[in-house]
Amino acid sequence: MKKTKVLFVSSEVDPFAKSGGLADVAASLPKALNGLDIDTRVVMPKYKSIPKKYVDQMKYLGYIYVDISWRHQFCAIMQYESDGVIYYFIDNEYYFGREGYYGYFDEAERFAFFSKAVLSMLPFINFKPDVIHCNDWQTGVVSLLLKAHYKSNDFYKDIKTVFTIHNLKYQGVFPKEVLGEVLGLGWEYFTPDGIEFFDDINYLKAGIVYSDIITTVSKTYAEEIKTDFYGEKLNNVLYKRSEDLYGILNGIDMEKNNPETDDRIFANYSVHNLEGKLTNKQMLQKSLGLQERIDIPLIGIISRLVDQKGFDLINYVMEDILRMDIQLVILGAGEYRYEEALRHFQKIYPGKLSVNLKYDTVLSQRIYAGSDMFLMPSLFEPCGLSQMFSLRYGTIPIVRETGGLKDTIQQYDEITHEGNGFTFTRYNAHDMLYAIKEAVNFYYHRSTWRYLMKKGMETDFSWKKSAKEYIEIYKKAISKN
Ligand code: ADP
Repeated sequence: MKKTKVLFVSSEVDPFAKSGGLADVAASLPKALNGLDIDTRVVMPKYKSIPKKYVDQMKYLGYIYVDISWRHQFCAIMQYESDGVIYYFIDNEYYFGREGYYGYFDEAERFAFFSKAVLSMLPFINFKPDVIHCNDWQTGVVSLLLKAHYKSNDFYKDIKTVFTIHNLKYQGVFPKEVLGEVLGLGWEYFTPDGIEFFDDINYLKAGIVYSDIITTVSKTYAEEIKTDFYGEKLNNVLYKRSEDLYGILNGIDMEKNNPETDDRIFANYSVHNLEGKLTNKQMLQKSLGLQERIDIPLIGIISRLVDQKGFDLINYVMEDILRMDIQLVILGAGEYRYEEALRHFQKIYPGKLSVNLKYDTVLSQRIYAGSDMFLMPSLFEPCGLSQMFSLRYGTIPIVRETGGLKDTIQQYDEITHEGNGFTFTRYNAHDMLYAIKEAVNFYYHRSTWRYLMKKGMETDFSWKKSAKEYIEIYKKAISKN
């Protein structure tokens, strides 16, 4: 039987470029799909910041030209292979030879270029996917451009599209002039059922409207986004597409994130020998200037510092948290006002609080490994990976019950021993504080705590199940006419 072919399109892929969970997914899902005999290849922009060791190993395949706006743009295509996955890189100095990944004045044009380049390169690389799988607003216009500019060509006519929403909040909203001037499309697409959005245009909405199937990254979030509260003004659009909207929980790379073999942490350990976890805690305390006490509960937070992640709750009761006999380690980068507040608390609580305002993937692993608990009080959370990484390293999550957090973490029940963490429901600082206090109480029941650690470490968060669900989605997309 012919192998199903999938092109996975993402604006970030770990380890080439990462700002959040999307990069983890774009690295691990294609690998899992290839393992299940789906020919899955990945394409992303060739940013200037991709580490040299990968760039040096890329193969130059050739170039094409892509027409975008009034520009006739040169576009080189590079290829890199690792673990049986083929990665393509779209190379254009003008758009991607810049620092970082996002936030430029011409985002609409940069990602329109990327989307068009992805479609245009297919005959050149001689890869005709059955499904193009796009992710988030940066790739939202791929399905629309395919329909408007490419479908009339025989090569493209059978290609289907799947669009995954990793975060509904980031939408790529641009002035309506972009429609004609950048995307080269007519006003017939500027309708409430099309790309129009409150008199602007919205790339994410295009992905929702024009893709054959839409998925998001947990079952609960798939329901939540059809409501006013979580819907980010797109709830009605999503509701209309209910029949084609699915929730599939993300997995994690269980090999890369394995405390037995991870060389980024201070000492390796396993469910059968937890001693190394204590070494991690001690070394973490030492390296961050915290009091060296193994008896004290150590709470970790690793997060983008944005509203979504619940930092207003944390800041509101920070004094109450730090008055407890606990330590808190925070690793994060993001909005200035949160960084400022955390710097302020750092001055008041040296030795108890460690604030690290940066992006650091070695320190993050050390925090997952060295903490006892992991706090994640999100306002909304499409899936969330950090709570799964935590459990993998024997660190017990304290989370708000929303989106993927609700689907992965259940409140521990002392009587039945069900559950794997500590949860609260309302977005309220005191409810969060209560959950933290509960976790701290159980921390001192050593046998219960060890039971929770082991249970977490033994949970299978791999892609095994979810990758199969994606294959079913691809089949559904392919069978659409
Ligand atoms: P989101 O995608 O909304 O940021 P997720 O929980 O899905 O949230 O994924 C976050 C990912 O980014 C995790 O792999 C987490 O470890 C990582 N991460 C977040 N902030 C930092 C940071 N400051 N340094 C290193 N890794 C970080």
